[in-house]
Amino acid sequence: MSFPKQISGSRCRVCGGPVSEFFDFGRQPLSDAFHEQPPADELFFRLAVGNCSWCTMVQLMEEVPRDRMFHAGYPYLSSGSAVMRDHFGKVAGRFLETELTGPNPFVVELGCNDGVMLRTIAEAGVRHLGVEPSGGVADLAAAKGVRVRKSFFEEQVATEILAQDGPADVIYAANTLCHIPYLGSILRGVDALLAPDGVFVFEDPYFSDIVERASFDQIYDEHFYLFTVRSVQSAARPYGLELVDVERLPVHGGEVRYTLARAGGRRPAPAVAELLAEEHERRLTEAETLAGFGSRVEGIRERLVTLLRELKAKGKRVAGYGATAKSATVLNYCGIGPDLIPYITDTTKAKQGTKTPGSHIPVLGPEAFRDPYPDYAVLFAWNHAAEIMEKEVGFAGVGGEWITYVPDVCVV
Ligand SMILES: [Zn+2]
Repeated sequence: MSFPKQISGSRCRVCGGPVSEFFDFGRQPLSDAFHEQPPADELFFRLAVGNCSWCTMVQLMEEVPRDRMFHAGYPYLSSGSAVMRDHFGKVAGRFLETELTGPNPFVVELGCNDGVMLRTIAEAGVRHLGVEPSGGVADLAAAKGVRVRKSFFEEQVATEILAQDGPADVIYAANTLCHIPYLGSILRGVDALLAPDGVFVFEDPYFSDIVERASFDQIYDEHFYLFTVRSVQSAARPYGLELVDVERLPVHGGEVRYTLARAGGRRPAPAVAELLAEEHERRLTEAETLAGFGSRVEGIRERLVTLLRELKAKGKRVAGYGATAKSATVLNYCGIGPDLIPYITDTTKAKQGTKTPGSHIPVLGPEAFRDPYPDYAVLFAWNHAAEIMEKEVGFAGVGGEWITYVPDVCVV
């Protein structure tokens, strides 16, 4: 089943300018739609990406309805990785030290997931609210003592929170803002809810890192926008918000943490102008750069599929490691199914015993990886490579080899 309408068309969802498509990944399923038996009417959409010639915002050409992605069964847990738990603990610590020092401060997190960041805020006794539409993960946050409102965040919700709790000193979102096509409503909501000297801080995959590393699997249904400093700056301006700081983060394959404040309220840090200049120098969203990205992605597909076919012909046993959301893009774009990768192991309980969306590869628990070890493992969770390779040191010990495909196909 396909979505009948192309909602975003060729107009920018942020400024209304014309959007030029620069890469088409073809027919793709919902990246988190793991089913024991894939339904006959499995949903597919056309995953294509373009950029706006007015504001430069990189965005998907088609939008998937949000309640098809973020629902009670949404399986991704932010607390799943020790590196990410540490990361969010530090985020909370920094807010407590720098932004939440006034009387009775208040923090709101958009898409708080299982409460990995807010639990530290809650333990410090600071007023907070997590806004989370995915019921299952919201319940996990509540179980950690986090105050949660089960809903999407938009202008109306912001007004209700303001009436109940007063203005927010910090509004935070990690790997959430890029998920939301209706960015204008979010920014109007932030404008309504943010205290006069408050900050809106969000972190999301950085398009510059995606281009540099050819990490094309960062592009999937849930990543509607792929932000740059320039596009965030122009998206924020009409709402009276100014980009006052940026910080590059090593997590999830390269992200940027953006800090917005009310225009004129804070002096922008030099990092903003520096990163803007770097984007300009790299001609980040110019046609030639984007075409070069596309050629690299096509090359990766060819080399990955060729390698997997060769290994199969030699009778090697190949498994996948990490049934990540982003693996959907790789598997479906490359046309890889159970014939080339017979199973993928994953620690997420909700995914075990299911099949990967679109490509229908069985997902098994982590014990299946070790019993017995395969000859090769395709690392779909490459953003956690160091953590995984350390954990699976026994795999290398028996001569197992990892296959990665970002920034290029490589056997290690
Ligand atoms: Zn635009």
